[in-house]
Amino acid sequence: MTVPDKPKKVARLKIKPTIIPRDQHTISRAFISENALKVLYRLKNAGYKSYLVGGGVRDILLGREPKDFDVVTDAKPEQIRELFRNCRLIGRRFRLAHVRFGDEIIEVSTFRAPHHVSDQGAGHVEDGRIIRDNVYGDIDDDVWRRDFTINALFYNIEDFSIVDYVGGVKDLEAGQLKLIGDPAQRYTEDPVRMLRAVRFSSKLGLRIHPEAEQAISQYAALLEEIPAARLFEEMLKLFMGGCAIQTFESLRHYDLFKYLFPQTDKLLDTPEQDYPHTFIMQALKNTDQRLDEGSSVTPGFLLAAILWEPMRVIADEHIANGLSEIEAVQLAGDTVISRQISSTAMPRRFTHMARDIWSLQIRLKRTRKRSIRVLMHPKFRAAFDFLLLRTQAGEPFQDLVDYWTKEQLEEPFAGKEKIKSGYHKPRSRRRPRKNRNNNSADS
Ligand code: ATP
Ligand code: MG
Repeated sequence: MTVPDKPKKVARLKIKPTIIPRDQHTISRAFISENALKVLYRLKNAGYKSYLVGGGVRDILLGREPKDFDVVTDAKPEQIRELFRNCRLIGRRFRLAHVRFGDEIIEVSTFRAPHHVSDQGAGHVEDGRIIRDNVYGDIDDDVWRRDFTINALFYNIEDFSIVDYVGGVKDLEAGQLKLIGDPAQRYTEDPVRMLRAVRFSSKLGLRIHPEAEQAISQYAALLEEIPAARLFEEMLKLFMGGCAIQTFESLRHYDLFKYLFPQTDKLLDTPEQDYPHTFIMQALKNTDQRLDEGSSVTPGFLLAAILWEPMRVIADEHIANGLSEIEAVQLAGDTVISRQISSTAMPRRFTHMARDIWSLQIRLKRTRKRSIRVLMHPKFRAAFDFLLLRTQAGEPFQDLVDYWTKEQLEEPFAGKEKIKSGYHKPRSRRRPRKNRNNNSADS
């Protein structure tokens, strides 16, 4: 691959941006959340520069509703905090401010220079990877540290223009996802950008620019060095962004899925195993549908689905060695989860949920005794949905699905986390959970 060295030099030059005035673009304040506008205006009124940047600008230009709004300013984190009572400074690699309004968080970051522009020592690179990234700059420094041209458009609250240093507007119009600078360097600095390329191209229907595309196979292995907690966060964005199916296909196409779910990936590569693929596709389809309808989705369920096949393979071996089905599933579940968390470290509530869903698959097969206890299990509903999914993927459980559908109709409190009255108390209370801290990472 040719590695042009131009971008490094570009970063040192002061390039003039294209300014697109208000009457020549489609961003209107009506599309920006009130809270984001509040933040933009308060910064501006305090004498700071303030711009909307990233997904907010990109998505509005594409005619889509932004997921969230990111603001960038020349105010330093402490100065931002002074302006907003509802503000928290976060971040280790770089500090930024979260300004909270109820459920909505506006992320406010200070202009930063890309690491190689600075020689002040506050930015830090190891083997090409960015370790610390806290060198403040101005807008014409900040633009070069961003990943894709379409993510580097700034909407100026001062005059409502768009500031475009990198040809992002043209790329958006051309449906092209282009990295800023040299792909080799940008992937080495932060390998997660490869996953972001897949995410944005799948979600927004964009073509990854050939140079950025080619470099993926060469640099993919760098993802092994990314902390498991960050990969988990990224995995959620990939699969819970409303287009999990395309994203999954694309991750497989670029051979990146294995860095997220190595155990599953291996099974998907076995040609005679068609079931895991069908099953995962069905799970992702349901996830997308639920999100589209505005229903909730939980990572615990998705996890149970993606790891189902690796868990089953191990459980089958245990069964062949004489363990009972339930023991086999529990033991296999432990093994699969403990292997998985070295790729994506997950909060315990999600791994517990996956284990519960798997164990309940066995209990759902027993239809005569203890219906009530199964129905009252806090994860009954999820386990039932899982059984439904298996049936949709071709397993012969329609009778069971019908049975449990009927049982639920007769038991109004089925699957509720808490029993709200004394009605149908389970015969014996479950033991209190040993670990009350549900949020701690399972690692
Ligand atoms: P969305 O919020 O819809 O997922 P986004 O583009 O806003 O997409 P964020 O993760 O919110 O993505 O980041 C905001 C902006 O910060 C990005 O648009 C990009 O300019 C910059 N950015 C985020 N992550 C990186 C990264 N790993 N490398 C370079 N720039 C990044
Ligand atoms: Mg964003």
